[in-house]
Amino acid sequence: MSISAAAVTKLYGEQKALDNVSFEVRTGEIVGFLGPNGAGKSTMMKIITGYIPPSSGTVSVNGLDVETGLPEIRRQIGYLPENNPLYPEMYIREYLEFVASLYKPETPVRDLVSRIIKVTGLVPEQKKKIGSLSKGYRQRVGLAQALVHNPAVLILDEPTTGLDPNQIVEIRNLITEAGREKTVLLSTHIMQEVEAICDRVIIIDKGVIVADEAKSDIYSVVKRKGQLIEVEFDREISGELAEKLGSLGTVKKLNEKVLLLEAAGEQDIRPLVFSFAVNNNLTVLSLQKKETNLEEVFRLLTNG
Ligand code: ADP
Ligand code: MG
Repeated sequence: MSISAAAVTKLYGEQKALDNVSFEVRTGEIVGFLGPNGAGKSTMMKIITGYIPPSSGTVSVNGLDVETGLPEIRRQIGYLPENNPLYPEMYIREYLEFVASLYKPETPVRDLVSRIIKVTGLVPEQKKKIGSLSKGYRQRVGLAQALVHNPAVLILDEPTTGLDPNQIVEIRNLITEAGREKTVLLSTHIMQEVEAICDRVIIIDKGVIVADEAKSDIYSVVKRKGQLIEVEFDREISGELAEKLGSLGTVKKLNEKVLLLEAAGEQDIRPLVFSFAVNNNLTVLSLQKKETNLEEVFRLLTNG
C-alpha cells in the first residue's frame, strides 16, 4: 500500500474538517480525491505530507508512519500544494535547484533539474523569472518542484484549478505521463478531471468519505442509490395523480405534463409507470432513463 489513512479525524477548534477518514491508495494507482469546496481535501493532503498533524488516526506512506518517519517520507513524496505557492522573484532554474538541494540527493542537483525542466516542457522558458510566466507555465514549475527528486508518490492539490482549457489539457497530460510510474493522489472538484486522469475515485463531502470505487464502478453506486426517470404524459398531471405516482418514488414536476421520478432500489420501475398510466387513462408520450454521468453521481452523493 503506498498511502494508507486510518480513522483520520482533524479538528480546527470546534469544526471537524475530517471525520474518521480511512482509505488506501495502492502502488501505481492514480486516485482522484473528489469533493466540493470545504470538503476536507486540502486538510487530508497536508496531513499525508506531514505539514499538519491529525487530531487522531494515523497515516502511512510506503509503510512509513507520517508521525515518526517524516524526513524519509518527504524524500518519497512530491507535493503540489493548493494555489501552487512559488517565489516570483526567483529564476526557474534557481528555484528548482533550491528545492532539489533540500532533499540532499545523491544525483547532482544540476542534473536533476535539467531532467525535470525537459520532462515538464519548461525548456523554452527556463531562463525566465517565475513571476513573468503565464499561469500554465507556473503550474509546470509547480509540477517540476514536486517531481524534481523523483518521488514514488505524488500528492497534487487541485493541479488544474484556474487554468484555461488548453493549459488544463497540457497539465493533465503531464500528470498522466508522470503517473505511469508513480502513485498519484490528486484532488479536484471537477468531475471531468477524474474521468480524464484517474483509475479510482474517492469522494469526500463535509469531512466524510461517501464513495470509494474504481472509476468504472462508480456508476453502480448510483444504481444502489436509485434511478432517475423522466416521463411525459399526454395531458396535465393533477396534484392528485402526482401524489399517486409518489408511491413509486419522489416526484418532481418539470412542467404540466413532464415529471421527474427518483426511485430507490434496483428494480426497473418503467413497467410500473406504464401500468400507472393505463390505470389512470393516461398515455405515456416518452419515458427516459436519465443517464448518470459522474457529474450526477457527485451531485447525488454530496447533495452539491
Ligand atoms: P477543501 O480543500 O476540500 O476545499 P479544506 O481541507 O481546505 O477543504 O477545508 C475543510 C474545512 O476546514 C473547511 O470548512 C475550512 O474552512 C476548514 N479549514 C481549513 N483550514 C483551516 C484552518 N487552518 N483553520 C480553521 N479552519 C480551517
Ligand atoms: Mg482545497
